[in-house]
Amino acid sequence: MRNGDFPRPLRTTHYEIGHTLHCTINPLLTISCLSKTFSDGVLPVVNELSFEVEDGELFALLGPSGCGKTTVLRLIGGFMRPNHGSISFDGRLFAGDGSFVPPEKRGIGFVFQDYALFPHLAVAQNVAFGLRKEKAAVRKERTDEVLKLVGMEGFEDRLPHALSGGQQQRVALARALAPRPRLLLLDEPFSNLDAYFRNEMRDNIRAILKEEGITAVLVTHDQEEAMVFADRLGVMQGGRVDQIGTPEEIYLTPRTLFVAQFMGQTNLVLTHADGATADSVLGKLTLHRPAEGMVLVAVRPEHFTIAPTADHPDAMEATVLSRSFKGHDITYRVQVGPVDCLVHTHNREPFAPGDTVFIRAVEPAVVLDKAGE
Ligand code: ATP
Repeated sequence: MRNGDFPRPLRTTHYEIGHTLHCTINPLLTISCLSKTFSDGVLPVVNELSFEVEDGELFALLGPSGCGKTTVLRLIGGFMRPNHGSISFDGRLFAGDGSFVPPEKRGIGFVFQDYALFPHLAVAQNVAFGLRKEKAAVRKERTDEVLKLVGMEGFEDRLPHALSGGQQQRVALARALAPRPRLLLLDEPFSNLDAYFRNEMRDNIRAILKEEGITAVLVTHDQEEAMVFADRLGVMQGGRVDQIGTPEEIYLTPRTLFVAQFMGQTNLVLTHADGATADSVLGKLTLHRPAEGMVLVAVRPEHFTIAPTADHPDAMEATVLSRSFKGHDITYRVQVGPVDCLVHTHNREPFAPGDTVFIRAVEPAVVLDKAGE
């Protein structure tokens, strides 16, 4: 499904990704043809953007810096108004067609990139802020629970200025989780944590959101974070979503050149397709969908085998140019005819630059859309 021809809010929608018709979803959040241009800007920062998030789903918006991710979150949160399009939540129109619901009436939790903690309130008071309407005992119990969850028990009486960036980020997360919002918006919430704690927090928060049935939209520029955290993700560039799908769909069957390259290393080859297969400098390739004529295909480096001898009729002779040992795998750059090709392997067999090897694609090559398709 393309930007711009997304259906108007429907309770049930079929969505199409990578030429396959997928399951039916019940959207809780519907973003439809959303656009935003700032007063000092010429081009829209968010451009005819459409996507839906199912009740209980964890959805990630993934894209490079400046592609408009935070602006989308701020529009959903009600911190700014769109120029065009609409935002509906659980059947309520939050923005669009002349309506605008202010942020405090949306009932959405938000973890900002800069944490936005109240500087004059201690940690526990910050967290309890969204629980003002609860009885004191409930407020205390929930505050303790979420502080424990983010590993900040013992810091209840500290003021935010006496916390590190990562600790402030954890308090901001606890504060947003405390009132159990139906929708939680997370703007790079793990960015200030060290690698070990980031993974642990990401897994914990994911488990808690699932357990409590909280729907979330996460914004990140980190591919691995988006893939591990989200049930589905949308890959953005220039204010638009290029592709929406599960992490597997996005990684294994990218639809565009941008998505193929943004999601990790890949080999791009111009081929001559004839239905289910294509001829290329990398030999005869099986295609993931039928195509005809000149098509650009992508093959991930781990989808090749590399061997010292020709173990298959389709294996192509290559020369090793370089070898990078990365612990869990080895990446070889090899030359096949006129092109360079990356091959990842767990195979311990040590090939050296100059060695003759044989490579073969063992997964179908992904046919990328032609520009403008
Ligand atoms: P990052 O990952 O770096 O946070 P992002 O994808 O979240 O980036 P946004 O913060 O949404 O990107 O910004 C998108 C574009 O809009 C940028 O070019 C930014 O400079 C511009 N922009 C954001 N807020 C404003 C504003 N209030 N006024 C004018 N331009 C803005």
